[in-house]
Amino acid sequence: MHEMSLCESIVQILEEQAREQQFARVRRVVLEIGALSAVDTRALRFCFDAVTERTLAAGAALDIHELPGLAWCLPCGAQVEVAQRHDACPRCGGHQTVVQGGEDMRIKELEVD
Ligand SMILES: [Zn+2]
Repeated sequence: MHEMSLCESIVQILEEQAREQQFARVRRVVLEIGALSAVDTRALRFCFDAVTERTLAAGAALDIHELPGLAWCLPCGAQVEVAQRHDACPRCGGHQTVVQGGEDMRIKELEVD
């Protein structure tokens, strides 16, 4: 499952950070997930609990901030929000849009001990 490997890479990042910054436990992880990243946040939460069990992040809270998908609409000459990659422009209904943001997932904040 896609979300399972995402959680495994999150744990890897946490372990690297723990070594660099000398903390032993992670209390809270704040993730930013773009609407166009194709990440199922419910599945991600489920996997997070399973994957972090017996790691430095066991029992850590997971906060997910969903960011809107952003696209540049050529006819409008403006940046617009889209919920999905191939959505029409909400202003003009056109499909001449170029995705500009909301495709990534990143760790925004950590609360550690
Ligand atoms: Zn438009």
